[in-house]
Amino acid sequence: MENYCRRCGHHPLTRGVLPGDAHERDYCGHCGHVVYDNPRVIAGAILEREGRLLLCQRGIPPRVGTWTLPAGFMERGESVEEAAHREVWEETGIDADILTPYSIFSVPPTNELYIIYRARLRAWNDAPGHETQAVGWFQAEEIPWDAIFYPAIHQILERYINEHAGGAYGIYSGSMDNGTIHFMR
Ligand SMILES: [Zn+2]
Repeated sequence: MENYCRRCGHHPLTRGVLPGDAHERDYCGHCGHVVYDNPRVIAGAILEREGRLLLCQRGIPPRVGTWTLPAGFMERGESVEEAAHREVWEETGIDADILTPYSIFSVPPTNELYIIYRARLRAWNDAPGHETQAVGWFQAEEIPWDAIFYPAIHQILERYINEHAGGAYGIYSGSMDNGTIHFMR
């Protein structure tokens, strides 16, 4: 992160706990501006069509050629549902109905929060954007597990396949590797 004040240009920033605050932060010793480095939200979706799950293959670094769910950073001014819808559209060209939250997990080491929805295909008229090399619908036994980088994406796909077989979908909430699946009754 840049080490100057974005409000007044003073540098360097100071690191410390300000009066009345509980967390160590960077702040400007000249004008008092505080840098809040809060987690970033990544919104995405899992789509199923006739027993096949949607994955996209990354076309840009990092990890070109790996497969993942469509997801990306939420933009200012969006709701998280809008962000999920936009990311699906940008990465696959699909216009999706965003249904219910499916996986909400924090990744403290990278300062990120992932919110993955279940979604349904409404229309598919557009081509994927440049970040995507290919889009594919995979049956469970066809999923390229070795080419999926994130363990959390494995977990989401495996859980979806199990729950699809049982006909009821839960909501996972927790951190990357330690959480709870909630089922509504
Ligand atoms: Zn300043």
